[in-house]
Amino acid sequence: METKKIRQESIFEAQAGLFKLLSHPARLKILALLREGEECVCHMEAMLGYRQAYLSQQLALLRESGVLEMRREGWNVYYRVARPEIYRILDAAYTVGGSLDELRLWEEKKKSCECPKCCRARGETPAGEDTPLALTE
Ligand SMILES: [Zn+2]
Repeated sequence: METKKIRQESIFEAQAGLFKLLSHPARLKILALLREGEECVCHMEAMLGYRQAYLSQQLALLRESGVLEMRREGWNVYYRVARPEIYRILDAAYTVGGSLDELRLWEEKKKSCECPKCCRARGETPAGEDTPLALTE
């Protein structure tokens, strides 16, 4: 007799899966970048220096697990954290150890980031948004 197969994942298996997801520097960096809110992929590329293919791979893992959400706006793809409670875990990890120098470095990098959000924050027009007339030529 075929019994109905319900996937009964224990709380410990679920937690191990979560820690596995988090046990990767690139994914931790992405989550740190998204702490203040939504960012476009181009911002993450500029800030973290990863190739887009690599970044997309890491973003996909975080999205598939339900930690991140994605939306498109024109040519830009934006990600935001869907489960902000994840930062309670990360905050605990920060207190255990490690230097915060990299986070300070990001503040410097942000000043020259060319992504739409950073450009607007500096009062500049993002590239590609000031040329609607050129398209009709
Ligand atoms: Zn930016």
